[in-house]
Amino acid sequence: MIQFEIKLDAPVRPCGCGHQPRLILSRGNGMTTHHFECARCGLVTAPVISRRFASQFWRDGQTHPIAELPFLRPTRTPRPAARISKQPLAVASVTQLRRQG
Ligand SMILES: [Zn+2]
Repeated sequence: MIQFEIKLDAPVRPCGCGHQPRLILSRGNGMTTHHFECARCGLVTAPVISRRFASQFWRDGQTHPIAELPFLRPTRTPRPAARISKQPLAVASVTQLRRQG
């Protein structure tokens, strides 16, 4: 997994400790997620695909201990397996009856 710090366009609400949080972009496992973190307190928001939701979580104070970060990551929804028809195969056993008139 690779993580980058993204420069914020506008300052966000500082953490309770007074520190400015960082917006982190993570790439890995076929996904790109964003989360805010305060390096001083070790508080993070849940990583989400949407940067806007990450900002919203931070604004709303929805933070978690950084140790929970791996468990907060969204999991990729597995592709649905190919659907197997449960209908019985049509049996081609047509008996033609010919009546002689
Ligand atoms: Zn803090």
